[in-house]
Amino acid sequence: MRSDAAAAFNRMHAAAKAAGINLHVNSAFRTMEEQRVLYQKYLNGTGNLAAKPGYSNHQGGIALDINVGGTGTSTYKWLANNASRFGFARTVPSEPWHWEYRP
Ligand SMILES: [Zn+2]
Repeated sequence: MRSDAAAAFNRMHAAAKAAGINLHVNSAFRTMEEQRVLYQKYLNGTGNLAAKPGYSNHQGGIALDINVGGTGTSTYKWLANNASRFGFARTVPSEPWHWEYRP
């Protein structure tokens, strides 16, 4: 990840932990090759929606996929209420797990 995004995430992770929430990251920075594989899985119908190689914010080092378990969970609600304090925002309407550092 980009160092400023990683530092902000570490602060958010600590605040969540203090509130009894564990922010588990499934995916952060991806290389071009990793993005190519994910995109091919998406095209094949065997993977989640993924951006074309070169077009993912995961490649820019500012995106995180956090294991929220849906929009009704305490983890998701904590993020919805607190992530903006740390510079994070949800940017993909269909992906409640995808958060980006956009201070
Ligand atoms: Zn994502």
